[in-house]
Amino acid sequence: MATMDSLIGLMNRIQRACTVLGDFGGGTGGNGGLPTLWESLPSIAVVGGQSSGKSSVLESVVGRDFLPRGSGIVTRRPLVLQLQQTQKGEADYAEFLHLPNRKFTDFNLVRKEIQDETDRITGKTKQISPVPIHLSIYSPNVVNLTLIDLPGLTKVAVEGQPDSIVEDIEDMVRSYVDKPNSVILAISPANQDIATSDAIKLAREVDPTGERTFGVLTKLDLMDQGTNALDVLEGRAYRLLHPWVGIVNRSQADINRNVDMILARKKEREYFQYSPDYSHLASRMGSEYLAKLLSQHLESVIKAQIPSITSTINKSIEELDKELDSLGRPVAVDPGAKLYTILELCRLVDRIFKEHLDGGRPGGDRIYGVFDKNLPTALSKLPFDKHLSIQNVKKVVSEADGYQPHLIAPEQGYRRLIESALSYFRGPAEKTVDAIHFILKELVRMSIGECQELKRFPTLQSELAAACYEALERYKEDSKKTTLRLVDMEATYLTVEFFRKLPQEGEIRPGGDGKRGSNAPPEPQLVDRYGEGHYRTIASNVKAYIAMVSDTLRDTIPKAVVHCQVREAKRSLLTNFYNRVANRATNDLGEMLDEDPSLMGRRQELAQRLELYQKAREEINSAFTR
Ligand code: GDP
Ligand code: MG
Repeated sequence: MATMDSLIGLMNRIQRACTVLGDFGGGTGGNGGLPTLWESLPSIAVVGGQSSGKSSVLESVVGRDFLPRGSGIVTRRPLVLQLQQTQKGEADYAEFLHLPNRKFTDFNLVRKEIQDETDRITGKTKQISPVPIHLSIYSPNVVNLTLIDLPGLTKVAVEGQPDSIVEDIEDMVRSYVDKPNSVILAISPANQDIATSDAIKLAREVDPTGERTFGVLTKLDLMDQGTNALDVLEGRAYRLLHPWVGIVNRSQADINRNVDMILARKKEREYFQYSPDYSHLASRMGSEYLAKLLSQHLESVIKAQIPSITSTINKSIEELDKELDSLGRPVAVDPGAKLYTILELCRLVDRIFKEHLDGGRPGGDRIYGVFDKNLPTALSKLPFDKHLSIQNVKKVVSEADGYQPHLIAPEQGYRRLIESALSYFRGPAEKTVDAIHFILKELVRMSIGECQELKRFPTLQSELAAACYEALERYKEDSKKTTLRLVDMEATYLTVEFFRKLPQEGEIRPGGDGKRGSNAPPEPQLVDRYGEGHYRTIASNVKAYIAMVSDTLRDTIPKAVVHCQVREAKRSLLTNFYNRVANRATNDLGEMLDEDPSLMGRRQELAQRLELYQKAREEINSAFTR
């Protein structure tokens, strides 16, 4: 079983660690929703009105001069004072948490450092800040104790202070005494009516039963001649569960005369021993007694608190573990592990992308939609009617004939009409390629977005996306070339068979509407080779040929597009990226795995706090199993 001394030491260590991690009271600590251990740590908070003697009481308890004192608001940041008893004969020294490795043996310098450190956060204004200063004092003459000196409660803002200061101070003080593990050292000056004591007022509010309030009455020496504070000290004026302790601190005159603490304590002892009013209470009065009383009490509070602290720790560890899991664990530092992480993430994205294409995730069906709807619609909307109007046919055929009109079928005229009609197919071919490109790009974007694990690496994410888009761009160019080539091929060699099968002109009714396969048997007649009917027939034949080509392209364009774009994307979307990664210097790999700074910060915060809790748990466990 641990000794109580070591338990207070343990609490002190946890408390210091809490401050380093920004886990402290004061509300504005910016805890970021992290679990807090601070809340469950027992401590003794000193509260009271301005100049009620708070800092003086602390100094008396410590037995050293080290606190800035004076009129007005001197204490503007909480001071967490951890007293640690050392072996007899060892010299006193002090240490600040913000100045590790520096031992202060001159307590005047401690005072100066408290002032400077206060100003460092609040500026030389009269502002206050909830960020605590941690001071540890090691001495054979102290009892193990943790006390928190707080700004004095005040009634009005003075020059240079914001109007909100009165409330701000009260809020800050309240945040320290609110928590159920806080012991309240309520300081009231004896030369003021206890009914008007700010300390008692606040204590009563947060601790109505009084079980964690210790009433301290200062300035007994300043009471009017002929009056005494027995009513208060004996618990008649205001009842508390714990007995009141009267204190006589040094007066301002004593301080100015540099009356040292040893002498001050001696004078205080003598004051009570020889006071006609208080001699019967002498053994329960004075700062030395107060120090022992508080130490004992703090020990019992810690002892009672250990189970709940342990359970807070366990619960917090669980929460932190969970959030860390969801953020992703830190990436290993060695290049091999980095490369592995990058490739794993790429594979993941690739897999998601394939699921989009092959089914399982949505999107692939949109490609079929383009082939099944958009392409046929675009083909059907091509302006062949206009191109094959009688006037245009006549114009093209005549131009092709030159000075000598054609004798039988206008071979050149047909060719020109067909060639120029075929060029219309370039549009839908290109549009189809673009549409598929757009869909593939969208699927890449979705796949990257859906890869949760990739979210923490914005650099990798954008480099990966860029490489994929680049690859898609190449497939698109290739696909365009191929589909346009399909169209061009149709123009360079016409299907002879089609024309051979055409009925001879003589078989077509004069003035026929160009529709072949009509039920009425064609009446052989002589055709006017330069009449309207003749051109209509030409137009109709060309239209039929174009329709045949259109059917073919409706089938072959999708084949080309799938071959050049979809299949390639499935096969080698990331090939380029892999090559790039392979050629990278190892330190560049780290750059690729740069994380969102806010995320890294959060993870670090969580990890540090987790470490704190794990250490605390270990310490508590070993303290109780020793
Ligand atoms: P704080 O503002 O509550 O921290 O009060 P301080 O400890 O700074 O004390 C304010 C003033 O009251 C100082 O000048 C002290 O010397 C003086 N003082 C505090 N306690 C006593 C006391 O018990 N007797 C006398 N005579 N003066 C005291
Ligand atoms: Mg003070």
